[in-house]
Amino acid sequence: MTADVVIVGNGALGLSVAVETALRDPALRIAVVGPEPRPGSASVAAGAMLNCFAEVTERTGDHPASRAKFALAREAARLWPDWPARLAEAARHAAMPVGRARGTLVVLGARSAGDGVGGMRAIRAAAEEHGEPCEDVDPYGIGFLEAAAGDQPVDALYLENEGAVDARRVLAALDAAASGLGVTRVADEVTSLVTSSAEDAVTGVRLASGTTLAAGAVVLAAGAATGRLIERLPPGMVQPMLNGTGVALETERVRGEAVPYVVRTPTLVGGCGLHAVPLGEKAEYLGATNHVLLDAPTGPRLGIVQALLAGCVAQFDRNIAFSAVRRWHYGLRPVTLDTFPLLGRAPMRGLLFATGTYRDGFHSAPAIARHLAGLLTEDAPAESDPYAVFAPGREPIQTMTVDDAAERFAEMALLVATERGMKLPYFLDTEPIAAAGRRLARECVERLGVPVALAPEILGAVSEAGADGVRQVAGYLSASSSGAPASRADGAGRKGVLPAGRAHGG
Ligand SMILES: Cc1cc2nc3c(=O)[nH]c(=O)nc-3n(C[C@H](O)[C@H](O)[C@H](O)COP(=O)(O)OP(=O)(O)OC[C@H]3O[C@@H](n4cnc5c(N)ncnc54)[C@H](O)[C@@H]3O)c2cc1C
Repeated sequence: MTADVVIVGNGALGLSVAVETALRDPALRIAVVGPEPRPGSASVAAGAMLNCFAEVTERTGDHPASRAKFALAREAARLWPDWPARLAEAARHAAMPVGRARGTLVVLGARSAGDGVGGMRAIRAAAEEHGEPCEDVDPYGIGFLEAAAGDQPVDALYLENEGAVDARRVLAALDAAASGLGVTRVADEVTSLVTSSAEDAVTGVRLASGTTLAAGAVVLAAGAATGRLIERLPPGMVQPMLNGTGVALETERVRGEAVPYVVRTPTLVGGCGLHAVPLGEKAEYLGATNHVLLDAPTGPRLGIVQALLAGCVAQFDRNIAFSAVRRWHYGLRPVTLDTFPLLGRAPMRGLLFATGTYRDGFHSAPAIARHLAGLLTEDAPAESDPYAVFAPGREPIQTMTVDDAAERFAEMALLVATERGMKLPYFLDTEPIAAAGRRLARECVERLGVPVALAPEILGAVSEAGADGVRQVAGYLSASSSGAPASRADGAGRKGVLPAGRAHGG
């Protein structure tokens, strides 16, 4: 079989790119490859908060890449109101309900106050700068929340334009739109890329069934599994992909009412925050854990799930403890080494990327789809590419120094300890814990053999990784032009224990 465009992956990203491209150029032959139950799909597990300003932190304005990420989230926020209607039209349905919830209440709990005060300030400042409605809320007067004693919110704000959709319903709408537009679906897995004899271009994909699909262009949108498909690209060309494992659950209220709109904590170091999303009637989505791993995940960790449940009950509403569990979700977020997405053309002809979206890919999907559709239909002038900073062949984006990264890792260690109930007597301070965190962060960088500033949760992944995972990252870093010579790329060195993932991630 031959297609003009083969999209690898049938999650929110792959399907959104397929639909947007087919809408722009109905003559293109587009095929989406992906197994039907979508094993490990982040899109299926997502709370699907459509958050832009609620994601802002004190660091959002610090670096061009962080600013471009914010611009991408803003573009997506502009596109979402019309997106369900466009999907319905493509599917030739009168409407496709996507379970939209309007409004987001951001609450800062007492335990996270140290880390979160600056974040709340940053959200307010960004909203003011961009004229976004953002209302201060009296944290002691939120009638529908009954936080546990000592965990009451100390600050709150309301963003009326931000909210959520039901991810499972959006996927159904995307499936229907793709089929309405004549996109070919291939229920199979891609095992490898087919390259030209000179190995300078990608010309198709090989499938697990043994078939080969020839393609004018291949778009990699296989989520966290994209990592396996890029292992054989030339060394140093594209950064490795990590697994941002996340657990969430759907529940039904037995006591009290479901939240009327999204309730979430601000983005804190190493994760996005706890969130409760209304799913209609008495149903709620409670999420989510965020445990980033370099190695193949073996399943959700009990201690991290325990922290998620305890956090929702204590920081949001004690009545949640009585809710009936209806469904568990477990998905793998696609996380790059530098935590920024991989978007656009790779340095190899015929190969494009739409992945690495980490914690907010569901929200960004319509904007990423527009960007990719522009490239695939060649009506987007390259010189005006606002997302060039996310080009797949870039060196890892470093938004801080190696010392700053160690400091952030120490902050994450302290936050995890505080959230899990650590209380020290007045004559001890937290410095020994912070010092242990800094030491472990430096050991992780030594294991990689290259002085690189990585986000705290990525350092956490390195600290837990086995020798093969470390060797893979070290090999990439030393082969990419960013890499200083690797001094200890053998994966040797002590494996760390602090901290094993946050209970909170979008
Ligand atoms: C618990 C959780 C909560 C989240 N909450 C939010 C949120 O509130 N808001 C938000 O915006 N984002 C959220 N995210 C992140 C968001 O889900 C992701 O960024 C986004 O959905 C990624 O979509 P994707 O299509 O790239 O990947 P996936 O959804 O993972 O899709 C990849 C697809 O590719 C298929 N595939 C894998 N390997 C192959 C192969 N070899 N060949 C063919 N197909 C293959 C898989 O089966 C899968 O269906 C959350 C994620 C998790 C896990």
